Amino acid sequence: MDRPQRKAGHKGRWVTLICLAVILLGVALQRDILVLSRWIPAHHLPWTPLQLGDPPGILTGWKLSRLDDDPAACRAFLEREAPQRVTFLPDRPSDSGCGLINSVRMHAVPGDTGKGQGVRFNQSFIANCPLAVSWLRFERHGLQTAAQEVMGSRVTQVTHLGSYACRNIYGRENARRSEHATADALDVSGFTLADGRQVRLPRDWTAPEDEDAPGRFLRAVQDAACESFGTVLGPDYNAAHRDHFHLGTRGWRFCR
Ligand SMILES: [Zn+2]
Repeated sequence: MDRPQRKAGHKGRWVTLICLAVILLGVALQRDILVLSRWIPAHHLPWTPLQLGDPPGILTGWKLSRLDDDPAACRAFLEREAPQRVTFLPDRPSDSGCGLINSVRMHAVPGDTGKGQGVRFNQSFIANCPLAVSWLRFERHGLQTAAQEVMGSRVTQVTHLGSYACRNIYGRENARRSEHATADALDVSGFTLADGRQVRLPRDWTAPEDEDAPGRFLRAVQDAACESFGTVLGPDYNAAHRDHFHLGTRGWRFCR
């Protein structure tokens, strides 16, 4: 009679031990996470939301790409970091592959965000939310850094050729829809600096070995854009891009 009881007692002890082990493991993990949060900068932690001021790091591209699947988080970024630079647009779903979902109008004049001066644009443009976020990050961490380092002056105005156009890639009939069909890309053709100088494509695009400052600046801009955009195409890619940089959010570090 007492053998089954002993068996049940053993089983109970094992269950208790396993429960204790699970609880201890849980506590240990939680403590680790707390310790990690204390010692590792927030932008290096995968669970912290992307901030405009976060320096580019190994998780930046991944955090940016996650905003594609999380419209609320993307919107929250713009509302928090640059509310005066955008107007949120109503969704315009469409079966044509040219719908606008979670998009904004980027203002031509940046306004005072209290978080550093933004650039002006030759005209406002429609941007899907992730494109707006990628632009703001690029402007802060790529464009202005390149301008200061190579040209010794900051960029005050950006000239673009447009963002939203309901068309296929290169306008070909049988190609897939372009990133522009959903306002996922911006075509940029030039920059005006605070000291009045202008740098523009294709005029200032030079061979990589050339030492001209404007040419080096344009190459630095293209390299920096690869940190914030999924697809970056420039004059070296093909003739269709000889006069602009195509900065798009789809893809992963496709920089040519
Ligand atoms: Zn383009």
